[in-house]
Amino acid sequence: MISQKKYTPQYSFEFFPPKTEQGLDKLRATRTELAKLKPKYFSVTFGAGGSTQQGTIDTVLEIQQSGLSAAPHLSCVGSTLESITHILNTYKENGVNRVVALRGDMPSGMQEAGAFRYANELVEFIRREYGDYFHIEVAAYPEVHPQASDAQTDLINFKRKVDAGANAAITQYFYNCDAYFRFVDDCEKAGIDLPIVPGIMPITNYTQLARFSDMCGAEIPRWIKKRLQGFGDDRDSIMAFGEDVVTQMCTRLQQEGVPGFHFYTMNQAGPSMAIWQNLGLKA
Ligand code: FAD
Repeated sequence: MISQKKYTPQYSFEFFPPKTEQGLDKLRATRTELAKLKPKYFSVTFGAGGSTQQGTIDTVLEIQQSGLSAAPHLSCVGSTLESITHILNTYKENGVNRVVALRGDMPSGMQEAGAFRYANELVEFIRREYGDYFHIEVAAYPEVHPQASDAQTDLINFKRKVDAGANAAITQYFYNCDAYFRFVDDCEKAGIDLPIVPGIMPITNYTQLARFSDMCGAEIPRWIKKRLQGFGDDRDSIMAFGEDVVTQMCTRLQQEGVPGFHFYTMNQAGPSMAIWQNLGLKA
């Protein structure tokens, strides 16, 4: 963990593009609340090959035009060079200078891989075409990407993105600090030297969390799962327990010297703000 201590901690919040007017109003209110914490940036997810792509662009430009810093996610699988170039040009023309560069997952039913197969190819492309204009974040997987054959292969593939020019990494969420510490130590041994910011998923809803975690390969430890299951529909108890567990985890990460936190907000301000306040973070 030594290498991570040299970086000034940075904090960021992730949104998804809203699909309804009501969702948009809610996101604006969430953004106003979280902006008070003065994060480094707000990131906005992007659906690979899907219909939400314009939603990402609209949400990003609205954040940027409100005077805050936005970091669009951009996944490349199934995309053409032209479509990726068009999106990046739109961001550049509007002063957006951050991007979270991803492979993404092919939506079911889509067959064509497109111009890029892996995220390292997207990072290479952005560096080649736009020089140092974009600050590039990439994804990291302390519990190993679900499609990787083993941790070592996944680490080699992670290094490809760093060597291609990534500035920083954000991890998949996890509830096991040791997986993160081990991953960072392995990166250090492999000569990977960049901030690896832990992705933090507040716990607010067991069913939704279990479904997400199955899809993305994040493990909910048995003791957490069993307690959450035991609360049934008692939302207040789930929220209170979740806040406590995630705060304790973040405290341990802070003690070891992490380079900040990236909160997966699910477009809600309250759960991330509660953890922020418990940690005594300053705006
Ligand atoms: P890659 O880094 O390309 O890795 C994918 C897999 O391929 C891994 O198993 C890796 O080991 C392997 N691999 C990588 N490079 C090579 C290579 N050159 N040769 C052979 N194998 C290789 N998904 C979305 O659709 N939209 C989002 O907005 C989004 N945001 C995310 C944000 C964060 C912080 C994280 C952690 C994930 C996000 N995801 C998002 C999910 C992500 O798209 C999926 O996890 C996807 O399966 C992998 O994307 P990646 O960029 O990590 O891929």
